[in-house]
Order: sequence, then C-alpha cells, then structure tokens
Amino acid sequence: ALFNRCDTRSVMNEESSAFAQYPARAVVDLSAIADNLAVLKQSAPTAIQMAVVKADAYGHGILPVAMTALEAGASWLGVAQLGEALALRYALDEAGVAREKAPILTWIAPSGADWAQALEADLDLSVSWTWVLAQICAAARETGKKARIHVKIDTGMSRAGSTLADLPALASAVRMARNEGLVEVIGAWSHLSRADDPSDEGNASTASHVQFFEAGCAILAQAGIRPELRHLSATSGILWHPEAHYDMVRAGIGMYGLSPDPAVASASDLGLRPAMTLQAPLTSVKVIEEDTPASYGGTWRSPSRRWVGLVPLGYADGILRAGSNGAPVFVNTDREPIRTHIVGRVCMDQFIIDLGPASGEASLPTGRTENAPAQVGDGVILFGDPATGAPLADEWATQAGTINYEIVARLGERIPRLYIGTTRREENRS
Ligand SMILES: *Cc1c(COP(=O)(O)O)cnc(C)c1O
Repeated sequence: ALFNRCDTRSVMNEESSAFAQYPARAVVDLSAIADNLAVLKQSAPTAIQMAVVKADAYGHGILPVAMTALEAGASWLGVAQLGEALALRYALDEAGVAREKAPILTWIAPSGADWAQALEADLDLSVSWTWVLAQICAAARETGKKARIHVKIDTGMSRAGSTLADLPALASAVRMARNEGLVEVIGAWSHLSRADDPSDEGNASTASHVQFFEAGCAILAQAGIRPELRHLSATSGILWHPEAHYDMVRAGIGMYGLSPDPAVASASDLGLRPAMTLQAPLTSVKVIEEDTPASYGGTWRSPSRRWVGLVPLGYADGILRAGSNGAPVFVNTDREPIRTHIVGRVCMDQFIIDLGPASGEASLPTGRTENAPAQVGDGVILFGDPATGAPLADEWATQAGTINYEIVARLGERIPRLYIGTTRREENRS
C-alpha cells in the first residue's frame, strides 16, 4: 500500500480506476507543503529543518511529502517507527534519492528490533537507554557498519530519553562505543511538552526543558561527546520559542498547514495553508418528512420537512464518530455553496448531512432533483483550506473533542490520495 500511494505519478495515472472504486479522495497540495516549510523557515532561520513524516506524513502520504520537503529545503526526514523509516528509505532509493541527501531519523523500536537492517538502510537511530546502545553496537559489529546515533535526553516529558540521573552512565557507554568505532554521535535531542502553552506555567515548563537539555548536553560534553546537531523544537517551539531552536528543528503539523494550537493562533494567522482537502460526492439527495429520525439511534430528528444528503465516508475511513451531530461540511453546488453539518451518528461507511428545509418538492429516483439545494454527485468538502470556504480540520477537532493532528493522522488508508501542486521537477518528468 505504501508503494502504491507513494509514487505521485502512479497515483495520478491510477486516478480513474482508484477513484472509480472509491468515491472519496484526499487531495494533497504539495505546493502548500513547500510554502509552509518556507514560512516556518522564517521563524527559525538559522536552524536546519527536519520534515517530520511519521504516520504516513500525518495521513498525507509519506513519499510525496518527503520528496517535496527535501526539494523545498528540508535537509532531514524524521519518522517515529523503525518500520516506517525502512519503508521510506527503500521508497526513496527507488525514487533515486541519494541516501546522503536524505538522512532519516527514527525514534521508536522495540527491544530486539532488526538494528542490522536499520544500519544497512543508513538510518539515524535515537538512543535513550544503555540496553538500546548495546543492541545497536552488536548490530554494528555484525554488519561492520558504524551506527549514526542521536542521544535522547528526557527534559521533562517522561516519555523517551535518558533522565539526567541515568545520563552519565549512558554517556560513558556511548563514549566507549564511539572509541571502538561502533557509533558516530550525530545528535543530542529531546522534545518539548508544553511549547504551545503561552501561560506562565507553559513558559516555565519550556524554560525548564531548555535547562534540562543544557544540563544533559553538559553531561555529554564531560564525557567528550559534543554532537553537531542539538535539536529540541517541533512546530510550537519553532513558532514560539526561539531559545529552543538550537541547530535543527523538527517541523510536523505546521508543514501540513495546521496550527499546533488554534487557541493560540490559527493557521491563517501563522501564514500556513492546510495541504489536505478531504472530499466526497453526495450519493443521495432526498426529502424526509418533519420529525423523522436520522441514522442509528435516531439521535437527530428533522425539525421540519427537510432535504438531507448522504456522504460515503464513515468511521472506517477515520471520520471520528465523535463528529456525529455537528461536524461541519461544505457542499459545492451549481448554485450557492452550502455550509452545513452532519446530522445523526456517523456510521461505519457514511454519514448524513442536513441540506435545509424542503417545501413542496419531492426527491426523484433518477438522482437529479430540480428544486434540491444540492445534487447527487456534488462535492462535499469535510475539511481543507479555509480560503476556499472549506471547514478547517480544527473545527472537526473541536466538534470531536480532539486536536487537528488526530483528524488528519487518523484518515483511513483506503481513501485515495490525489497529489496536486507538484514541484517543477515532477512536472518535467511527466
Ligand atoms: C511528532 C513529532 C514532532 C513533530 O511535531 P509537530 O508538533 O507536529 O511539529 C517532532 N518531534 C517528535 C519527537 C515528534 O514525535
């Protein structure tokens, strides 16, 4: 599936068949990805950019996003899982991207992972614990390849990373491994837990992370380890904490054109443009009588005689069921576009939208209904670029009690991705 989705051109070529088989599509504007990286660069002008493409590039499709980011000036790629790092490496190899031009950092692997394969794939590996280092060193001996590592410090999130208490032991183990020629220490890094929080407490948290990071780097330096790349900031740190930029920054959500915290600043306040538009055609338009229940449980009843539309996307596509009764949609019609919302519960494969009051009209079995506010086949946009009138993923997040990250990252794999706004190089190829 990764490979089918990865090659921009094959997706484009398969467009007719893929879309005939599946009515919805996620349109991903790669020029927005490139523009957003340029906007983020203005906030952290001296730091190298890593494009974070974990979770299939937050649902946008890993290879097209990774290629676009590299062409747009990002010099590193980051993914969470070792498995996705391997798949990305092989896809980039296939696409003809030289490994030196596309360093990949990966930071989640279980004990006993296939480190040898990771080294053969020239992946950069995060090291938080001495036992991970020992496994990586064993793989380095076995393969004869020096491991490229980034030492992770727990600076206050209690997630991965060596606590300062554990760090002296890890630092001396790293030094020994380096002196044996088994590892090269490329980076020291950590992650901020409250960089989007502008309150005094939030700022104090970030200041404390920075202090812990400095202390951790000092412990490494005492062991003679002075990595070239120190990195601490994701999008919130890029935007709001210049003191945390260091040598490299890791851009995730902002690159996809969404705000890391819309309560602090919206995407448009930040000059970011959402790269993904999720759309599907109406598969039914009909009239229901007043006080008719809609969808499972009848949680919504029509307040009057009503036009309702049916959209072929559901929770099996990652459309959160918590968006029932209220998540916004935008319907492009040949008359006025309609901004409306889901009524009733989101089902596994579809949901119902309200299209407004109906007077004397009746729906026709042919599909086309003269007086209907919208027609079968009209495009329904769930979220996208607000400049086009589309709701923001943020509005879905509010409705579903979550964050915009989850709205895009959970998007179902079975929804075809269609890439537009390809870079000049790709245009020349086709
Ligand atoms: C996901 C992630 C990022 C990117 O975060 P955004 O808030 O999306 O920019 C950066 N670093 C790490 C370690 C991550 O897990």
